[in-house]
Amino acid sequence: MVDLMNGEHADIYVAGRLRPSHSRARILVVNPADEQGFATIPDGDKEDVSAAVGAAREAFENSGWPQLPPSKRANYLRRLARAIDSRAEQLGAIVTAEIGMPLASSVQSNGSGTSKYYDYYAELADQLEVESERVGHGLRTIIRREPVGVAGLIVPWNGPQGAIAWKLGPALAAGCTTVIKPSPEASLDSYMLAEALDEAGIPPGVVNIVFGGRETGALLAAHPGVDKVSFTGSTGAGRQVALACANRFARVTLELGGKSGALLLDDADLDTFFPLVAPACIPFSGQICHALTRVIAPRARYMEVVEGITAKMAGLLVGHPLDPATQVGPLVSRRQRDRVEEYIASGRAQGAKVVTGGCRPESLDVGYYIQPTVFRDVDSTMRIAQEEIFGPVVSVIPYDNEEEALAICNGTTYGLGGAVFTSEPERGMAIARRIAAGVVGINRYTLHIDAPFGGVKGSGLGRELGPEGLAAFLETKSIFPSQS
Ligand code: NAD
Repeated sequence: MVDLMNGEHADIYVAGRLRPSHSRARILVVNPADEQGFATIPDGDKEDVSAAVGAAREAFENSGWPQLPPSKRANYLRRLARAIDSRAEQLGAIVTAEIGMPLASSVQSNGSGTSKYYDYYAELADQLEVESERVGHGLRTIIRREPVGVAGLIVPWNGPQGAIAWKLGPALAAGCTTVIKPSPEASLDSYMLAEALDEAGIPPGVVNIVFGGRETGALLAAHPGVDKVSFTGSTGAGRQVALACANRFARVTLELGGKSGALLLDDADLDTFFPLVAPACIPFSGQICHALTRVIAPRARYMEVVEGITAKMAGLLVGHPLDPATQVGPLVSRRQRDRVEEYIASGRAQGAKVVTGGCRPESLDVGYYIQPTVFRDVDSTMRIAQEEIFGPVVSVIPYDNEEEALAICNGTTYGLGGAVFTSEPERGMAIARRIAAGVVGINRYTLHIDAPFGGVKGSGLGRELGPEGLAAFLETKSIFPSQS
């Protein structure tokens, strides 16, 4: 294996081997903790995308992969899981250098936190009934589940191997062949995925990887040889992907942005909520789509809530991602930090008050760091309460009654996650039913491998994880057998 942490990487992974990209354009990979470029990756062009899609199409039509019994594909998935496990430390180190995720989280989320999805979809492949019989209303029908075809998998940088596994696991279980397009910020780790795919013996062409930015992604989404696009990223890019797919009715799953709310009812046990502030409101420096970045608090308890959140946020240790004591690392890029600073300025300009943070840490003059920030006196119409910031910024919004609280919670263009905190579980359940989001917690906030994940409204289309994640890569055919 070449040294991924240094140098120019010029290859794409097509038909089971690394080969030089056609494109000579390169993208610099910058370590957000020291602002230094340390490697380059190819910025894939039309020929690169066509080569990868062609290899996936060839494998879909002629390799026998879609026709394998699903339990045989499960064996490949399990081997892939073990190949990822054995690379956890290296994957974690590369991803930390690419995106600044604190090392322990990076090793976990790109190692065992990734392989578990391959194992899970191996289990579902074992249970997949390709053909089943339905008899009813005087007719016998064979219901057949077929892989949707060649799948384009486009992912963001903020949890690179996990995001790929959410798509690649079910795609392979279903019998699809694939082209992966990682994000330009986090691509080096996918060279290691290529190595793991080889080790797992995945047949050539079943998984292909092209590198590049927005243009490369757009070429993949628009390619006529791609039958399905599974996209995770921003809402704006998701809209472009949906339009590209609509042109040829390609299937599409979109996991997009969020502005999720934590709704604290008047009887909320704040000792349950406050410990969740760091992990649920600003996970990975707030760069997680389902972060609970809006806290909606009853006016009578407003200052108690503001002070509790502030104590948690101000107590977090901001530092270098390789320092084991670090709780909050840098943001992914200069662009991302500029964006977060612009939002902080807009919050101030619109009349909200910074209670803690709001600036770069004084002790760190290199690296894209921002102090965890809490805004009070936030009105739901302000930009900081409406738009996805993708940084360690929490807005605390007051309300006077439950209906108003719900209206605030549901009053954005997003609908990814939400949570309600209350001492009465039944009251929580009633509110949870009315929160317009794909994932809602009551006195907790979690994701689970078995539970479908995804958004409503501007947060996307379709679901990943659970059996629903597998169904997203299957077409259903009805066969009416001969009556003779
Ligand atoms: P992004 O939309 O800029 O890029 C995501 C991926 O899409 C990258 O690989 C990029 O190169 C590619 N891309 C960009 N424009 C494209 C286009 N027009 N056509 C095809 N591909 C295109 O997002 P990002 O900055 O990498 O990631 C942050 C965003 O991702 C945030 O909005 C976040 O909420 C969202 N996200 C959502 C989820 C979820 O599951 N809902 C998970 C993680 C991140």
